[in-house]
Amino acid sequence: MSSFKDFSFAGKKALIRVDFNVPLNDAFEITDDNRMRATIPTITKILKDGGSVILMSHLGRPKDGPTEKYSLKHIVAHLSKLLGVEVQFANDCIGAEAIDKAAALQAGQVLLLENLRFYKEEEKGDEAFAEKLSKLGDVYVNDAFGTAHRAHASTAVIAKFFEANNKMFGLLMESEVLSAEKVLHQAKKPFTAIIGGAKVSDKILIIENLLDRATDIIIGGGMAYTFMKARDGKIGNSLCEDDRLETAKEILEKAKQKNVSIHLPEDSVIADKFASDATTKNCPSDAIPDGWMGLDIGGKAIDIFSAVINKSKTILWNGPMGVFEMEKFQNGTKAIALAVVESTKNGAFSLVGGGDSVAAANKYNIADKLSYVSTGGGAMLEFFEGKELPGIAAVRE
Ligand code: AMP
Repeated sequence: MSSFKDFSFAGKKALIRVDFNVPLNDAFEITDDNRMRATIPTITKILKDGGSVILMSHLGRPKDGPTEKYSLKHIVAHLSKLLGVEVQFANDCIGAEAIDKAAALQAGQVLLLENLRFYKEEEKGDEAFAEKLSKLGDVYVNDAFGTAHRAHASTAVIAKFFEANNKMFGLLMESEVLSAEKVLHQAKKPFTAIIGGAKVSDKILIIENLLDRATDIIIGGGMAYTFMKARDGKIGNSLCEDDRLETAKEILEKAKQKNVSIHLPEDSVIADKFASDATTKNCPSDAIPDGWMGLDIGGKAIDIFSAVINKSKTILWNGPMGVFEMEKFQNGTKAIALAVVESTKNGAFSLVGGGDSVAAANKYNIADKLSYVSTGGGAMLEFFEGKELPGIAAVRE
């Protein structure tokens, strides 16, 4: 593969896989354009070099071919504004219109193709479809870390139709991969992973992989209560996955053998119902009365977790510490976010990823005070589970 920064795009048509899967409201207005902004430097560098750009992306999960709701035409005006270039649009991603418009592109021009997932071949990783797409450009740039865990036609299969020196990561993909690899393979110790969120089942593989790498694993959020119960704690009506109790026990046992410290929340903010107007009190996390549920980590847990974070040199954070969407239960997530910021200020490398932790980082305005905030949710999780991501492997081959 080529290095994007060193490549000269003069006279080239760059076919870029981006992740423009942005949320739209009922009026088809973009409610969060972060994914679009993240890829602007890649596009701009190509245009400045004297190249032209063909953008391909998916939007949503259309099931039955072309659907107005999932058309990428809705984002053309905003993309033009972000780039300062009038973006052209093709009503199809393969076929005559796409081919003609791509062929007519001049240096400095940008063409956006219609939603790739209007063809079921995209998600199936169909070779013929990937080959048709590949014919539109001279070089292939993958800048869609958010879909790097998918072996789809445009994210992985397409790469085989380009010579090694004509395929590369875009700037966003490159920085995502560098940050993630730095944490997974070159983490300075102590290395603390902070894992939260609702479900243990979603995070088992990542915890198991981290047992071989981290020195400390902080477990918060709803998933912590399955671990508390596995240690014979009383968790009242807190979230619990009973079918994962054995796995939780095994993880605690393995951690002991591997000398990894697992930190569970000493205390919790408990509530009499899952609602923003619930009655709340503080309680040890292993002695929660029936009828009550833990919805945030408590003050002692905040202090203990913060001390661990403070002494860390590498921090990976995925998942909130409580139901941070509700005012009453956001304290733990906010305090941990600030502890990560503090530790980053003191020289730690902090990587935050996963939809909800990124949402929390944005809510508390700290995204720019962390070392790296990943744009990939599922992709980042799979990376830290130790899996090879098809979108990365295909470009490197
Ligand atoms: P996940 O998608 O698994 O990372 O979970 C994120 C969700 O977990 C957020 O919407 C939180 O509100 C929720 N969550 C965090 N802590 C708890 C808790 N103690 N009980 C129930 N839900 C929680």
